[in-house]
Amino acid sequence: MPQVKSEGIILKSVNWKENSRIVTFFTDNAGRQSIIDRGGRSIKSKRGRLQTFSRLEIEYFKSEKSGMGYLSEVESMESFLLEKDGALGRLTFASAALEILNDLLAEDEPHPELYDITIQFLRMTDAIPKSGIISLFLAYFLKTMSYLGYRPNFAGCVSCGKDKREIALRGNGQNESELPQFYFFTPERGGLVCSACQMMGAYYIKLKLDRLSTIYRLQTSSLAEACKMTMKFDEAEEIIELLTDFMKYQTGTKDLNSIKFLEKLKKTKL
Ligand SMILES: [Zn+2]
Repeated sequence: MPQVKSEGIILKSVNWKENSRIVTFFTDNAGRQSIIDRGGRSIKSKRGRLQTFSRLEIEYFKSEKSGMGYLSEVESMESFLLEKDGALGRLTFASAALEILNDLLAEDEPHPELYDITIQFLRMTDAIPKSGIISLFLAYFLKTMSYLGYRPNFAGCVSCGKDKREIALRGNGQNESELPQFYFFTPERGGLVCSACQMMGAYYIKLKLDRLSTIYRLQTSSLAEACKMTMKFDEAEEIIELLTDFMKYQTGTKDLNSIKFLEKLKKTKL
């Protein structure tokens, strides 16, 4: 069996047979890898600790027959403790990021750039002031989906291609020019849709102009720029819902478990 050396982070770990477990890693050079940690749950195990939210150096044997990996060495390179002020928020969004990766990454497909951005995201989630955590997460969420081929279109209509400036709608009322502009977003077709291209009975999310501008900024910012954007909780909640709806329709995944903590977060104000 050839031996492989990688750097990786743990996405998931499930117990397997007696004292073993199957650990799913996102590695820098081989993408998602499910690796058996034989006897890893035994107190006699001499391998280094498999810590979540850490950059680990791992060595494993990869069976050519079954494609299964068997862990031989682990060494910690960097840990993200997520203990600073606002720890619940840091932990929630770091967990959500790993959950998204676990749901969307295919086995054996390398994504070195996405790996680097994930490490950058975890490092920043550990270090930045808590006020920037949500916007940092949202920017990371958008980037991750783009890297994997799911880029929601917030620039114009997904069907006819009309620019967003041409497809803004206004509510009904006395003085039309003063009413706020809004748009419709279709998670199913993956972007904004003008009124002419809407279909009866389809599901749309109504987006106000300022909300759309925030999402567009998040989508086009670097992570470092995004974490300087402060955001109200309600606004963030709406954007998270839109993005998870989009992800569910596009990829067939379920709701994010980690995000269920949002209600709790709201009460503790991050
Ligand atoms: Zn259209």
